[in-house]
Amino acid sequence: MIDIQNISKWYGQFQVLADCTTQVAKGDVMVICGPSGSGKSTLIKTVNGLEPVQRGEIVVDGTAVHAPGTDLPRLRARIGMVFQNFELFPHLSVLQNLALGQVKVLKRARDEANERGLQYLDRVGLLEQQDKYPNQLSGGQQQRVAIARALAMDPVAMLFDEPTSALDPEMINEVLDVMVGLAQDGMTMMVVTHEMGFARRVANRVVFMDAGRIVEDCGKDAFFGAPRSDRAREFLARII
Ligand code: ADP
Ligand code: MG
Repeated sequence: MIDIQNISKWYGQFQVLADCTTQVAKGDVMVICGPSGSGKSTLIKTVNGLEPVQRGEIVVDGTAVHAPGTDLPRLRARIGMVFQNFELFPHLSVLQNLALGQVKVLKRARDEANERGLQYLDRVGLLEQQDKYPNQLSGGQQQRVAIARALAMDPVAMLFDEPTSALDPEMINEVLDVMVGLAQDGMTMMVVTHEMGFARRVANRVVFMDAGRIVEDCGKDAFFGAPRSDRAREFLARII
């Protein structure tokens, strides 16, 4: 589903990604972890073309992300992305947030977009909040709306960048529960997170990054049982 081949990226002189290669198969749940500044956010932003790369290639469901002719808005619609800070449109109601991309990018009729929006709001347990504005919701609710909005676009995969790290502790589980449900339904997911409980529960793969490199890329049990690198061992010792 997602094929990342030898990508490297520089910001000026600074190399942020160094020869990263990994693949995500349909239905895989890949957790990406590693120290702050190791390139995790940059890596997943390259997958839906939010960041260009200087070397290498990424193919998502048959589409070469960084090829000149690629229709990036359409590609991004097919790869749901959920950020740390929700990024809902503040001037639109919850339901309008869910419908906008469906109408503008997928050219769905307004009625159909609203109907699907409601279906996904229900799925994240927020049907009754449909007419509220983002600032009237808690952080956990906003993040669930952001997930529902991405799902309403029928994505082939979902990317998450620290989706719970801006939340108060009591709201983390309501968001993780939605993500666990998605994983159990077979959604292909790349998830940057420090929530190792989530990783243990639903990940089948764990990637550990350090200084722009993929240092470990293995099954969950191998990662938690016996990480090969010292850096991953130190990281786990600090975080768990
Ligand atoms: P992580 O998500 O693992 O914390 P990031 O991918 O956000 O790491 O960043 C990796 C490194 O790249 C950091 O050192 C960061 O300061 C640097 N970086 C990120 N974005 C930019 C940018 N737009 N310009 C220059 N440096 C950047
Ligand atoms: Mg980051």
